[in-house]
Amino acid sequence: MTSVQRMPVLFIGHGSPMNAIEENQFAKAWREDAVKIPLPKAILSISAHWETDGTMVTAMMSPRTIHDFYGFPDELFQVQYPAPGAPELADRVQELIGADEVKTDESCGLDHGTWSVLRRMYPKADIPVIQLSLDRKKSPQAHVEMAKRLLPLRDEGILVIGSGNIVHNLSLIRWHDDTPYPWAAEFNSLATKLILGGKRDRLTDYPSLGEAACLSIPTNEHYLPLIYSLSLGTTEEPVSIFADQIVFGSISMQSVRIG
Ligand code: ZN
Repeated sequence: MTSVQRMPVLFIGHGSPMNAIEENQFAKAWREDAVKIPLPKAILSISAHWETDGTMVTAMMSPRTIHDFYGFPDELFQVQYPAPGAPELADRVQELIGADEVKTDESCGLDHGTWSVLRRMYPKADIPVIQLSLDRKKSPQAHVEMAKRLLPLRDEGILVIGSGNIVHNLSLIRWHDDTPYPWAAEFNSLATKLILGGKRDRLTDYPSLGEAACLSIPTNEHYLPLIYSLSLGTTEEPVSIFADQIVFGSISMQSVRIG
């Protein structure tokens, strides 16, 4: 494959599915970030909303738009993100990770963790997109090791996006109050400090980071996409935080760009 400029890697705090259709600061931040980076040949998304036993990669020509939520307005269910798939990129992912460790999937599609963000970044839906699932049986360290194998993709024009939330506690959510819980603010700041201070590795073993971390990550599917994105960055590259805010008390929208 021809070598091109190394693509940045992103982690996007996606928050509510409504961010796909509500014009707000997050939509603006995602849109503005897309303009600042080279146009990708294709996108690999690792979203909180696709957990499987074993690792899967989407390999169909036309992934469908999955509306994997309930209780939202019809307008949101009408949204389609008809980006093409990229079976050849799925093959490349299998090659890098190992065909015995990642299976192709022809039936899934793009979940809202992927399309709510991409709809803002690339509204024309003309860039091919594949998704890699999160193996729910893997340890965070095993996810780091898998992520690192994907590093060559960044030199092949592929934009890798992790889509989740660093702080994500739905059971304690306050729909009408954005005041952060103290533990949410504490862990969100600690994450920022470690990310910007070159100590990203410490975020892998998050239970060791104390009670604020445990309350912020009651289940780790929204956190693991961050681990993928951080693992794909190198320590020499610039790192920046954008769209950093806590909403509904217990959801951090903190987003990260490396490179
Ligand atoms: Zn989510």
